[in-house]
Amino acid sequence: MRDSEWTRILDWPGYRVYQHEIDEKAKKLRLWVRRKRGNKKIVCSGCGRRCDGLHEVVQREVRDLPCFEFRATVVVELYRVRCPGCGPRIEQVQQLPSKAPFSKRFEDAVGQACESASARLTSIGGVGEVTALTWALEIAEPHRFSSIGQARSYCGLTTALKSSAGKEQRGPISKQRNRHLQATA
Ligand SMILES: [Zn+2]
Repeated sequence: MRDSEWTRILDWPGYRVYQHEIDEKAKKLRLWVRRKRGNKKIVCSGCGRRCDGLHEVVQREVRDLPCFEFRATVVVELYRVRCPGCGPRIEQVQQLPSKAPFSKRFEDAVGQACESASARLTSIGGVGEVTALTWALEIAEPHRFSSIGQARSYCGLTTALKSSAGKEQRGPISKQRNRHLQATA
């Protein structure tokens, strides 16, 4: 398949695939993307202002939704802008809502899965939270979370950690949407 066809399948607005790699044994798909020629508007991720200042190009690797049985990774070219307000900053990209190595689509899917799992399972009984968490971790990347507490927070299964006098206190279980979903809703 040609890169132009991968561009259409990937469907990241303003970006095109310029290289791809398929590992049939490992069931992995890798796509390298960069801005389309007409996509010139570069915006600071700190303040949202448009930046035309000098920048360097960096590569960032994110996981996107799987493509059939293939695990999909997108290597995206990003600009580091020199923002008058924020200093050196990475540009804002619609498909990359957070610093996490995931695309917006992937985060949304994990968030929705967490939400429905926690709503379903916590309504059954006390063990729900753990089950929902285990399940969520199976679809998310285990190394994404440095602690179980962090993973719980991500899934919106607990309220935000309250830090007082260097001691962490956990609030009651809630079905709050996680902050990633709130940010993208
Ligand atoms: Zn800025």
